[in-house]
Amino acid sequence: MTIKYKKSDLEQFAKIIENKKVEKKDNYSIKEAIQESKKNYSPNITPGTSSGIKLYMFQTGTLKTKLKYIKMNQSNEDFEIPVPWFLIKHPKGDVVIDGGNAKEVSVDMHAHWGSVVAAYEPVMAKHENCIDQLSNIGQNINDVRYLLQSHLHLDHSGGIGRFPNATYVVQKKEHEYAYNPDWFAKAAYIRQDFDKPNLKWHFLEDKKTDFYDLYGDGSIKIIFTPGHSPGHQSFLINLPNTGSVLLTIDAAYTMDHWNDKALPGLVCSSVDSASSVAKLKKVAAENKAIIVTGHDPDAWKTFKKAPMFYYD
Ligand SMILES: [Zn+2]
Repeated sequence: MTIKYKKSDLEQFAKIIENKKVEKKDNYSIKEAIQESKKNYSPNITPGTSSGIKLYMFQTGTLKTKLKYIKMNQSNEDFEIPVPWFLIKHPKGDVVIDGGNAKEVSVDMHAHWGSVVAAYEPVMAKHENCIDQLSNIGQNINDVRYLLQSHLHLDHSGGIGRFPNATYVVQKKEHEYAYNPDWFAKAAYIRQDFDKPNLKWHFLEDKKTDFYDLYGDGSIKIIFTPGHSPGHQSFLINLPNTGSVLLTIDAAYTMDHWNDKALPGLVCSSVDSASSVAKLKKVAAENKAIIVTGHDPDAWKTFKKAPMFYYD
């Protein structure tokens, strides 16, 4: 079968390659990456049917950690996990979910993250922060209307304060807890990431605002899923061609967590964590959703990644 690209995709490839040439990032062979991805490209988009809603999947590198920190009570063996984040292009305004690690982590991880680096060592190149990656796909940061925070842990808080026109959406409980976490969760919150002046926050209130429909069109729903952290939330994205995609984020770290075989290594309530998975399973079944877990290295490989590809 001959693969046909949409003109807009080809223009995007060319733009990315051009940008990389200008930046002289020889270590980052985007051209090779594109060639490789083209081999596997199976467009699920018929030209002309796009509604303008697109979901892009990104990562700010990886974290080198131990299995036990991801799957509770498991071994001390090395385990490397991706740090995913997302962009949704929407006619009513673009939406970023999380944003991965802060840019400062790629400059000096010890200065920004402190002692947590011993347990979770970030592998993040300078161009892998969310702002640089968005500019690679031609995204204007001024067009980002919302930054949705699943929770405020350090590998999710890198986008806060970097979008001048954005409203930052988080659970009220999570925001409060981040300023005053329990001893065992302290290292997971980096106050400089979220304690910034002039941020426009929008606080959701657990069960009272559950299944919050961001644009009122069913395309982005925010689901309260506590357990891993007190105010964690997950996202159900409904796309016209792809169908539903459930971004569990850290309500299910890995497919083992999703399948009730492991609890996350960091948890504030095991009971809530288990109920949140059960709740999301119901949502996934009702919507026949594709499941995207928070940090599963094997599952993450199976999804199409930005800058080349998106789901629509
Ligand atoms: Zn987390």
